[in-house]
Amino acid sequence: MAGIYIHVPFCYTRCSYCDFYKTTDQQFKDEYIKALCKEIELNRSFLLNEDIQTIYFGGGTPSTIKVEEITVIIKAIKKHSSLKHLQEFTLEINPDDVSDEYIGGLVDLGVDRLSMGIQSFYDVHLRKMNRRHNAKQAKEAIRIAKENGITNLSIDLIYGLPYMTFEEWERNVQMAIESGVQHISAYHLTFEKGTLYYDYLKKGKLQEVPEESSVKQFDYLVKELSCAGFEHYEISNFSLPGLESKHNSNYWTGQKYLGLGPSAHAFDGKNRSWNVRDVRKYITALEGNETYFEKEELKEIDRYNELIMLGLRTKYGFNMSLLDGFNTTICTFFNKELKRQISSNNVMLEDGFCKVADNRKMITDRIISDFFFVDED
Ligand code: SF4
Repeated sequence: MAGIYIHVPFCYTRCSYCDFYKTTDQQFKDEYIKALCKEIELNRSFLLNEDIQTIYFGGGTPSTIKVEEITVIIKAIKKHSSLKHLQEFTLEINPDDVSDEYIGGLVDLGVDRLSMGIQSFYDVHLRKMNRRHNAKQAKEAIRIAKENGITNLSIDLIYGLPYMTFEEWERNVQMAIESGVQHISAYHLTFEKGTLYYDYLKKGKLQEVPEESSVKQFDYLVKELSCAGFEHYEISNFSLPGLESKHNSNYWTGQKYLGLGPSAHAFDGKNRSWNVRDVRKYITALEGNETYFEKEELKEIDRYNELIMLGLRTKYGFNMSLLDGFNTTICTFFNKELKRQISSNNVMLEDGFCKVADNRKMITDRIISDFFFVDED
């Protein structure tokens, strides 16, 4: 069981909060596609040997490339993999790129799931975030996607925006529910180094929202989506029953995946690798048959910390049977921390899984970091 992630690094503009690897320079698209096809060729043994179940085009903005270009990429993959067990084919799309023709082309190609960057249904928020679309386009894009046969549609929302009132957040959540989508990803705004918002924070032009406001917005989101029939299956992700993102669920359960494109990460079950975070360097390296990625074997501590992080973020929790192969120091540390977290009512045990308690979900990151094993040597 394995997935393929393809990073499309092109965006037309930069959103104020975004720290994903991207470029607004569109001139390298042709070379990028060629380099990507070459990278696919170099990874033919992975494609030949693994059962590919999910494909995910992320970015950047995958919808900046044409259906014909995506077709070229898929053809390159199909040279080495029949994709006969493919269960999910997702593409991230921006609302302003949506048209009947574009969605129709994607559906013909086999795309069966879209992840749409809506972020808010308020023009004022969208302008402040430097998004290209407006609220009207957001609603229209959802309608077009549904009318053209997308039955598994996910939208992204952002909360914890310094200029968003609680009433506006309530309305955003209600509009997301009323839009009839099957999946909602909701992320709290973070101020990442290198973004415009990080500079604003440092200069005092923006402030982080108080923790009580974040908790109130998160609690409202969880309560309303649950009433609307959504399952809260990962800290930031909600889906109608059976429509969890298979691709992301595979990450969270430690499955293998191939990462293609600049900045993409990969995991082969033992080693992690990550591609150079620069589209020009990526193209030059592939053209010149040079190395375009770095690789490291995961140490035992890293593997433990990763399993903790991924497991505790999901509704299933951390599968404690996974501790079997770990050394005594790590297991003793885990058991001691487990007792402490249970006595604080932060986590609970269920059928061999350690899960974050429902009323502690907002502090999941804090709980995870308490469970992290730090090597003091
Ligand atoms: S949020 Fe998406 S569209 Fe905006 S800059 Fe980042 S990758 Fe590009």
